[in-house]
Amino acid sequence: MIKAKKSLGQNFLIDQNIISKITDIVNIKDKNILEIGPGTGSLTREILKKKPKKITVIEKDDRLVDLLKDKFNQDIEFINKDVLKIDENNLNNQILTVFGNLPYNISTEILSKWILNINPKKVWFNCLVLMFQKEVADRIISKFNTKEYGRLTILANWRLNIKKIMDIKPNSFQPKPKIESTVLFFEPKKTFTKFKNAKNLEKITRIFFMHRRKMIKKPFKQLFNDNENIASELGIDLNLRPQNLDFKTYYELTKRYESLRS
Ligand code: SAH
Repeated sequence: MIKAKKSLGQNFLIDQNIISKITDIVNIKDKNILEIGPGTGSLTREILKKKPKKITVIEKDDRLVDLLKDKFNQDIEFINKDVLKIDENNLNNQILTVFGNLPYNISTEILSKWILNINPKKVWFNCLVLMFQKEVADRIISKFNTKEYGRLTILANWRLNIKKIMDIKPNSFQPKPKIESTVLFFEPKKTFTKFKNAKNLEKITRIFFMHRRKMIKKPFKQLFNDNENIASELGIDLNLRPQNLDFKTYYELTKRYESLRS
């Protein structure tokens, strides 16, 4: 038995019922599958049963790659690397269906990187089935005017349609995590606000959300100087707090910010 490494966020799924449910969310047969962090291969095994066209796995831990190579002599392509250091746009010429019980310490980093790097001409995935710690999933799917609403919500909803699938209790994992988990399903949006550079959306939300409890007057001034007419044109009350603006308003603000700079 392999000893789980905490530093790599290793909590292996052991609940067969949950594993079946996750692999039933999307059609796998004849699809090109990518799995992030296959671990000991419990999801991988179930995915293989459903006869994908091809499955590629990205796993950083060498010990697990060796174990998986022993376990599955089928056609798995192994990428023994850090998922954050991979150019996901050039993984495969095919559109990928992605599964991942993500390492929780880097799950938001993975999702943010993927969204910011989406090639507008060709999105490399048709859907993502990803597991997060529940608290992070709650932030991703939150609505404005709530305490969970923030930068991650705004970024994720910019390019993705998001659906919550289910919560999962700690005892479905070995070792048992301290927190609950949630599976989310994502699809690329067909229409979305176009920016010159998505990094500007990150910048705007970073500055607005620097102080959640304070009014947005200050960050607004920092980004737009004295262009208060922008606020009135967009119907923004500068006495509000950052979590009181819906995502469309943040996308509009980003566009205004970009046009002021061009
Ligand atoms: N999917 C498995 C294991 C999930 S645990 C299951 O459900 O049982 C998270 C997995 O991600 C572990 O296998 C861990 O080694 C791997 N991992 C952690 N950090 C990673 C990184 N930066 N790049 C790729 N894989 C990583």
